[in-house]
Amino acid sequence: MDSQGATLPPHVLIFPVPIQGHVNSMLKLAELLCLSGLDITFMVSDFSHARLLKHTTVVSRFNQYPGFRFQSITDGLPADHPRVGEQVMDILSSTKNITAPLFKQMMIEKNLFASETRRSITCIIADGVLTFAGDFAEEKGIPLIYFRTISASSFWAYFCIPELIEAGEISHEGIGMDQIVKSVPGMEGFLRFRDLPSFCRAKDINEPKLRIAESVTRQTTRAQAAIFNTFEDLERPTVSLIRKHIPKVFTIGPNHSHLKSRLAKTKADNSVLSGSFWAEDRSCLDWLNAQPPKSVIYVSFGSITAVTIEQLLEFWHGLPPKSVIYVSFGSITVVSREQLLEFWHGLVNSGQRFLWVMRPDSVLGEDRKDQTLIELEEGTKARGYMVGWAPQEEVLNLEAVGGFLTHSGWNSTLESIVAGVPMICWPYFGDQTINSRFVSEVWKIGLDMKDTCDRKIIERAVRELMEERKDEFLERSKNLAKLARKAVSEGGSSYNNLDALIDYIKSMII
Ligand code: UDP
Repeated sequence: MDSQGATLPPHVLIFPVPIQGHVNSMLKLAELLCLSGLDITFMVSDFSHARLLKHTTVVSRFNQYPGFRFQSITDGLPADHPRVGEQVMDILSSTKNITAPLFKQMMIEKNLFASETRRSITCIIADGVLTFAGDFAEEKGIPLIYFRTISASSFWAYFCIPELIEAGEISHEGIGMDQIVKSVPGMEGFLRFRDLPSFCRAKDINEPKLRIAESVTRQTTRAQAAIFNTFEDLERPTVSLIRKHIPKVFTIGPNHSHLKSRLAKTKADNSVLSGSFWAEDRSCLDWLNAQPPKSVIYVSFGSITAVTIEQLLEFWHGLPPKSVIYVSFGSITVVSREQLLEFWHGLVNSGQRFLWVMRPDSVLGEDRKDQTLIELEEGTKARGYMVGWAPQEEVLNLEAVGGFLTHSGWNSTLESIVAGVPMICWPYFGDQTINSRFVSEVWKIGLDMKDTCDRKIIERAVRELMEERKDEFLERSKNLAKLARKAVSEGGSSYNNLDALIDYIKSMII
């Protein structure tokens, strides 16, 4: 029996990579575990903690769980680092070099967060990318569970990098982008070189990003177990293959929907848990509620994507009549006022509805807000709506939303699946290239326009999704949404797997 008494619950340390998508899904995991009475210490970077305090009610929400604590730590980056676009990858080295030793020191000094009312940490659930948290767990003999915020399929493709290299299927002269890849078991029929995680486009096999992706993924097997934010009916074949390498794999997702389902059973308040790093502009909900059913396409590129002005303009030009799309330019300096106004008139005159999220920092280049853009934003509100950041989970569930133009981040993909909203995918980087292939070729709930940013292709895609093939896409999306909800309802696979995970965590202290 543990010296701290049999009555105290297990104490889990949850440690996400401190970027939006990772924090979002691991906060949901934290609340799911709190609902089962586990004590949680949630490691969050100073930067994201400040954002959460500023833009959300997360802190007061978690006050209802006496066993929950936030613990903040530096992410190792200077305060003014952009933390978007490819530069977000800097966080991997800064956490490894700067956060890791501080984390170790903190854990030792604070006696693994033990107190009179809490055990010392009994288990670490670390983001699979934070290998140093795994090193610490191993060194101290603390049970380790890795949580992966990407799809099982993307994880599996990363896992197969050694085989891909061995077979000469990446970083090899003469590989065509549309060449079918044979070294990712289970995906031989439909996975093209183009669809592999973007790091596989490395010029040579020793490129650091490729090698880091490989080693980070392979080291997952040292953990006692792994958790995936997915559900069996969505990715069963791939999950079975992963189970051959990691025997304990808990698929408990979609986390956001699972949380809602459990809250509905146990608490009066099952409102969305928002972990937004930006202020949500909730006025778009009223606007959406005033639109006809399935008439609006929601456009968002997530929290990391940064686009060039040229890419934005291609999107803008590509808008067909009778499509609905949301556009925000942020700040642009290389396009003339005349050009901008032409685009704007074309869109507004088409009479279509759109909701476009454009974070203030999402356009590469100048960050100054041009007067022309302010005028465009104002004028656009007559037909569409633009916000800097939306309450996405809520937006996707509104009746008016009939499509989602997305960068195919895994959280966004799952949120769209649960809401039954078909997608047009414009993946930006990393795992998103695989997610978009699954959306179009496997689940058939949308279109994949990766590697293109051409107005005609965008126009065609929007027409296809919102008009020509609307019924077909909506029907398949609705069916998949049902399966997702079934998974997180009592007796469903994710529901049972979460119970099993909690039993497993409890078994670690006996
Ligand atoms: N999100 C949001 N409001 C927005 C845009 C995005 O709340 O206006 C949330 C979205 O619901 C998702 C997360 O931000 O949970 C983005 O995560 P994802 O994995 O899709 O992409 P990433 O930002 O990591 O590229």
